[in-house]
Amino acid sequence: MFTRHSEGLRLLSVHAHPDDESSKGGATLARYAAEGVDVLVATCTGGERGSVLNPALDGPEVRADLARVRREEMALAREILGVRQRFLGFVDSGLPGPGEPLPEGCFAARPVELAAAPLVALIREFRPHVVITYDETGGYPHPDHVMTHRVAVAALEAAADGDRHPEPGEPWQVAKLYYHLALSRAWFQAMHEAMTERGVPSGMGQVLADWPDSAPALATTTRIACAEQFAVRDAALLAHATQVRPGVAFMAHPRDIEREVWPTEDYHLARSLLPGPGTAAGPGGIETDLFAGLREEVGAG
Ligand SMILES: [Zn+2]
Repeated sequence: MFTRHSEGLRLLSVHAHPDDESSKGGATLARYAAEGVDVLVATCTGGERGSVLNPALDGPEVRADLARVRREEMALAREILGVRQRFLGFVDSGLPGPGEPLPEGCFAARPVELAAAPLVALIREFRPHVVITYDETGGYPHPDHVMTHRVAVAALEAAADGDRHPEPGEPWQVAKLYYHLALSRAWFQAMHEAMTERGVPSGMGQVLADWPDSAPALATTTRIACAEQFAVRDAALLAHATQVRPGVAFMAHPRDIEREVWPTEDYHLARSLLPGPGTAAGPGGIETDLFAGLREEVGAG
């Protein structure tokens, strides 16, 4: 089915808020964009209910117009990563406290089928071969992240079915769906140990101590080598200036240690139309390319 489309490879990454594309999988996007893959980020919400985590930027002007500030930050991050980006137009749900209801009209309060419609249209227009999003848990207990997972999976299925949402474009079947394994417990553990061994103070011990006893992590099926893009990832994340708390554990570790200890961003292959594991599987059957098994068929090399 892909031989008809030889214009190249297309990668769609679906995220909840501006900044998620940089903190989760940003180096992967930068690497594929640099290789000539057409990379598009879909951002479900405008991040209007995000907190201003950087005290230096926490003033009345910023708070009064956080939506605009975050659009400007996103525009800068998108340029740094070298990708295209679209907002899907939903309103940030914020992070309600225990027992607090979701704000009326917010993204996570929408029916999934309806909330998937803009993404169905985008998938049919962009025709991605590969889609990346969060797993069922959202990877992070924010209602918008869990909703992003549901909407992405629903949109993937509906986009392929011409009877659902018949109006926007020709049906399109995505070949592979991946879930992020970014910022995993294993990553924090490895970084914490490497820093401690080298006598570098690690702020990650507390992160590990606070780690919730939740379901076991998904299997790593795919590792994308992208240490060369860590600096680009960092610059893109810092472009979301209101969202980066100075000294936060993720930003504080030495990059040379990260490049040495964990030079990849990792994924779980959740769905694939291809038979068997990817043809570019490396040692231990781990894929090293999100387009493994697709390059030949797309003919983009
Ligand atoms: Zn988010």
